[in-house]
Amino acid sequence: TLLRMAADCIFCRIAAGTIPSTKVFEDERVLAFRDLHPVAPTHVLVIPKEHIASTAHAVETHEALLGHLLLVAAKVAEQEGLAKGFRVVTNTGADGGQTVDHLHLHVLGGRSMTWPPG
Ligand code: 5GP
Ligand code: ZN
Repeated sequence: TLLRMAADCIFCRIAAGTIPSTKVFEDERVLAFRDLHPVAPTHVLVIPKEHIASTAHAVETHEALLGHLLLVAAKVAEQEGLAKGFRVVTNTGADGGQTVDHLHLHVLGGRSMTWPPG
C-alpha cells in the first residue's frame, strides 16, 4: 500500500529507505531504528511508516496503529535484553522537546532512568 509522505520529513525518508538507518525491527506499519545520538546504551526510535506529525495530531483512525507502536516498543525492549526495565517517551510539541515532527516513541534502556525528566 502507498503511505502518505510529508515533504521533507526526515523520518518519512528513513521509513522509505532513502535515508539509511540501523533497523532493529520492521513490519508493514512501523519501523524501529537506532537513534543517531543515543542518550542511553539502548536508544531506539519506533515510528509509524504513515506520517503523523505528533501525538497531538493523532486521530481516531490511528488508534490501532498507536497501540501497535507501543507493543513494538515492548518487543524491541525484549529484543534488546532490557529485562530490568526501560522507558518509552514521545515528546510532543515545542514544550515537549519534540525536534522531529513525525510521531516517534523513544525506547530507552540499559541504565537506570531518573524521574522526573528535565
Ligand atoms: P525528538 O527530539 O523529536 O523527541 O527526537 C528526535 C530524535 O531523532 C533525536 O533523539 C535525534 O537524535 C534523532 N534523529 C534526528 N535525526 C536523525 C536521523 O537522521 N537518524 C536517526 N537515526 N536519528 C535521528
Ligand atoms: Zn514523516
